[in-house]
Amino acid sequence: ASIFAAVEMAPRDPILGLNEAFNADTRTTKVNLGVGVYYDDNGKIPLLGAVKAAEKARLEAAPARGYQPIEGLAAYNNAVQALLLGKDSALIANGQVITVEALGGTGALKVGADFLKRLNPGATVYISDPSWENHRALFESAGFPVDTYPYYDAATGGANFAGMKAKLESLPAGSIIVLHACCHNPTGADITDAQWEEVVAVCRAKGLVPFLDMAYQGFADGIDADAVAVRAFSASGLQFFVSSSFSKSFSLYGERVGALSIITASKEESARVLSQVKRVVRTNYSNPPTHGGAVVAAVLSSPELRQQWEDELAGMRLRIREMRKGLAERLAARGVTRDLSFVTRQRGMFSYTGLSAAQVEVLKNEFGIYAVSTGRICVAALNSKNLDYVADALASVMK
Ligand code: PMP
Repeated sequence: ASIFAAVEMAPRDPILGLNEAFNADTRTTKVNLGVGVYYDDNGKIPLLGAVKAAEKARLEAAPARGYQPIEGLAAYNNAVQALLLGKDSALIANGQVITVEALGGTGALKVGADFLKRLNPGATVYISDPSWENHRALFESAGFPVDTYPYYDAATGGANFAGMKAKLESLPAGSIIVLHACCHNPTGADITDAQWEEVVAVCRAKGLVPFLDMAYQGFADGIDADAVAVRAFSASGLQFFVSSSFSKSFSLYGERVGALSIITASKEESARVLSQVKRVVRTNYSNPPTHGGAVVAAVLSSPELRQQWEDELAGMRLRIREMRKGLAERLAARGVTRDLSFVTRQRGMFSYTGLSAAQVEVLKNEFGIYAVSTGRICVAALNSKNLDYVADALASVMK
């Protein structure tokens, strides 16, 4: 018998399954709101001008493709730290921040999870309910039990902060808390700056280990404004983890550009922590790929390209906001009586619309509009051409 005879079929990824169904749909009016990707107004994934310019320069320079250091490119890691903490951060100056380049935000979470498992093997990991679906699987595969804290309030379309805080206050010291730094996926509901201060205070009082997931910096209000959670923790004197992803903010999905940063208590501690994180990397994939990190570092270190990137990022952010506003207005104009103003308050690429699984099914069957069964839609897949069609369809199932 084959050595694989007893291998069971793993469950299908729900979102990838949605894409397959979408691709097989022959209706020309079909719209895929299930994805987690930013599309421009023409329905295309943009190649940013700043990225194109940096790639062109890199191609012309034709650098040799030696191995990178285990921790990746220093210029890239320094740029990541400045984006997260601000370029004048005392923590950076003190040597209290270590960063390793990682294979996307996912890779950063995985390296962080593997390091945490060595550091704190008996801990439980808490993720928001709901959360990005890979959070649970990722920390479970690193060997942790994973539980949840309340997060979403369906009645308001916002965060259930009281529920979240009460749960965090009840957790044992050493618990690992995964927090969406901004643009919560899947709900789009973020907590306020003042509430972040309260989260920091609870983490300090209870000895919790914060792990901030920053996958959408710049998609809500801007680079610095979206770092408010990271900055609140950095001012607290606590140690914490941050995973960064540039998949969305640089539109570099397939290049796998991310980073893991860890804030320690001292420079001396940083050296020891970095040495252990490098062991995790070394035994997983040895060292990261060159291209994506080199491009991001080149953009962030050139004043002109950086400005161009910030303008392009602002363009993505504003277009998403326009689509949120346009959708809410159109639904109201079509007689949907439920107050959907929360769609405009939610931030980032996603929105929890409140659509039921049955309504999502009708949208697919009758209109060729694909959404996640939880009612999550990707607002960044709306555009000036499909907005009326989507609004008609949503209104007809919501009324
Ligand atoms: N965290 C969250 C909250 C995300 O939404 C995503 C991407 N969808 C990631 C991490 C992973 O990012 P990457 O694609 O860079 O691995």
